Amino acid sequence: QPELVGDFGTLMAWADKVRRLKVRTNAETPLDCRTAREFGAEGIGLCRTEHMFFDAARITAVRQMILASDEAGRRAALDRLLPEQRSDFVEIFEVMVGLPCTIRLLDPPLHEFLPHEEVEFAEVAAAAGLDVDTLKRRAAELHEFNPMLGHRGCRLGVTYPEIYEMQARAIFEAAVLVAEKSGDAPVPEIMIPLVATKRELELMKAVVDRAAEAVFAEKGRRIDYLVGTMIELPRAALKAGEIAEAGAFFSFGTNDLTQTTLGVSRDDAARFLSGYVEQGIYAKDPFVSLDVEGVGELVSLAAERGRATRPDIKLGICGEHGGDPASIAFCEQVGLDYVSASPYRVPIARLAAAQAALAAR
Ligand code: PEP
Ligand code: MG
Repeated sequence: QPELVGDFGTLMAWADKVRRLKVRTNAETPLDCRTAREFGAEGIGLCRTEHMFFDAARITAVRQMILASDEAGRRAALDRLLPEQRSDFVEIFEVMVGLPCTIRLLDPPLHEFLPHEEVEFAEVAAAAGLDVDTLKRRAAELHEFNPMLGHRGCRLGVTYPEIYEMQARAIFEAAVLVAEKSGDAPVPEIMIPLVATKRELELMKAVVDRAAEAVFAEKGRRIDYLVGTMIELPRAALKAGEIAEAGAFFSFGTNDLTQTTLGVSRDDAARFLSGYVEQGIYAKDPFVSLDVEGVGELVSLAAERGRATRPDIKLGICGEHGGDPASIAFCEQVGLDYVSASPYRVPIARLAAAQAALAAR
């Protein structure tokens, strides 16, 4: 593995000697994965698969899938997407060989996938063999007034399990391919987004397990994997003891957890938050530095309740706060296993994790 050089490299080596927290990265392209590895990332903490769906070459198939009015229509589009998804994961597993990779199943605000331009509707119509007016009607049906609280995350997987099934199949097919090629089997950690109840996680885990068994039977080879969940809704944090019965790990999605706990839109907060910080209502921008007293209490409570059910539950954080030194200090206190930060923040996270470990001595 390439290592940072010179004094910076020495400093990082010192930091690594004292830190307890592992440092992973949020990455979904081979380039970002490679950058993060060079900066010392010890795995992927969050691979946001929805970013892969915006690829210009496949967005029409994605729109076809979303606009399909029945399962057969969705499956036709998913069949086109499967080989592309498989190669996404092959590339990632090859770069991250030997390291854990947390792959989050699709979590889009649905409206981001809907076509808007006439030409986009025409492309989907040609691909799906449908007329433009039918597609426009369907797009109007899918319109949401508040997409961030709408049909996203595992709610999409519950309604259309075939989407998660395709993604899980792509992950396992890729893992088998890489294991056969390199002799080093990837260990995927498959993460279900926006879970609020144990039942959601159970249902989605069953979809993943079914896809795994199907692929293992076809390929004659098994792959170790974990299924776990994001904790990014207050209900999930409160019910963490129950949810831990269904999943092997939690990753705190503190972007959404901040949004839903404070009732502040993560996309619209800029207008008033600076004034709030000036007036001391919040000490810092809570989307940058974890609101330790409010959101943080939910994190520590969920960690405690999750561990009470499953003492070996793996705990991480993958919101933006995973790269913020003050928030990392909090993660150390709560005893998380790892933080996950964007590739260029990995060195800062290594340093902050070391400082937090020293402070805890
Ligand atoms: C989060 O909500 O903190 C998270 C990591 O997921 P996303 O930012 O993709 O919603
Ligand atoms: Mg989220």
